[in-house]
Amino acid sequence: MSPSGHTCDVIIVAAGRGQRFGAERPKQYTPLAGRPILSWSLAAFSIHPRIRRVQAVIHADDRASFDAAVAGLRVHPPVLGGASRQESVVRGLEALSANAPDYVLIHDAARPGVDAALVDRVLDGLAHAPGVIPALPVADTLKRVDSNGRILETVARTNLSAAQTPQGFHFDKILTAHLAARGRELTDDAAVLEHSGLAVLTVPGSTANSKITTQSDLIQMEHTMLETRVGTGCDVHRFTEGDHVMLCGVRVPHTHKLLGHSDADVALHAATDAILGAIGAGDIGAHFPPSNAAYKNAPSEKFLAHAMALLRARGGSLTHLDVTIICERPKIGPHRDAMVASISRIAGVEPGRVSVKATTTEGLGFTGRSEGIAAQASATVRVAI
Ligand code: MG
Repeated sequence: MSPSGHTCDVIIVAAGRGQRFGAERPKQYTPLAGRPILSWSLAAFSIHPRIRRVQAVIHADDRASFDAAVAGLRVHPPVLGGASRQESVVRGLEALSANAPDYVLIHDAARPGVDAALVDRVLDGLAHAPGVIPALPVADTLKRVDSNGRILETVARTNLSAAQTPQGFHFDKILTAHLAARGRELTDDAAVLEHSGLAVLTVPGSTANSKITTQSDLIQMEHTMLETRVGTGCDVHRFTEGDHVMLCGVRVPHTHKLLGHSDADVALHAATDAILGAIGAGDIGAHFPPSNAAYKNAPSEKFLAHAMALLRARGGSLTHLDVTIICERPKIGPHRDAMVASISRIAGVEPGRVSVKATTTEGLGFTGRSEGIAAQASATVRVAI
């Protein structure tokens, strides 16, 4: 129930085949910043406090893809679409009619950038008209062109707006209008209501809510949906009796080993914390408490792999990981390539995205006195905003 006391459901039209997109799977299931395009708008509506039911209309062939796209989201089981977009909308409206809402929003799955403020503008407008659509003024000069590319005329831009979705309607009005318009090809739901003689208002649309039609639209949209973040990590372990140290997952012979609950791989610990830091996911101790006997002598590559899994679960990727090992001994240089290869394997990224460096502290401090090894790392990641 919305604050105004009106119930509102949303229909997301996702039954199309996306021929213009030219991918092997339907456009709405293509990943955008790590999640299917469709799941972005489903998620936006499912968390909106004024939306009661999220009803997708899908193609019969896409049920498995749909189920994967909505995992964890509060959405209603889908209904199957018809032969045209218009027919699919009618199927969606009919599915809602048994428990009809006061208002319905109809949204295209190919607009993943819909946001709560835009939804609010459309819903607020429904207090004043039976139909409301978001629209943007047309910025480019418009030309009418013949099939040879020759300009026939320049179209006056005054009073022209580009229509977006979600388009909002009084439910009973749009259902009646759609049933009356069956068999007549109309380009959007607003046109269906206009055809029945009812008023449709526009409210400001949003440039982020543009439609993905081509692969280049998708690439453009990824840029607006991903951001770069940097995390840092730091760790220290002290020496104890032993004959080797583990650094970056590589066994390096030495006069001592590092003391720790796990294998004490100080470099991988710093790297893990850097990735966790970049996604605000706490630190290594929170994920793998030393009090847990399961991590006794554990290979630290487990920790780095876990941080990478968390990053990927957020649709993220590792752009670069830079690790610095601080010690007098052992010499890191002879092992550097093996260390880069090791981190690259554990993290599942190309070696070119990994850097391992070393420094001494000129005999100063605890590392200078060879009491232990310190490491620091910075991780640069791309994640969904
Ligand atoms: Mg540690």
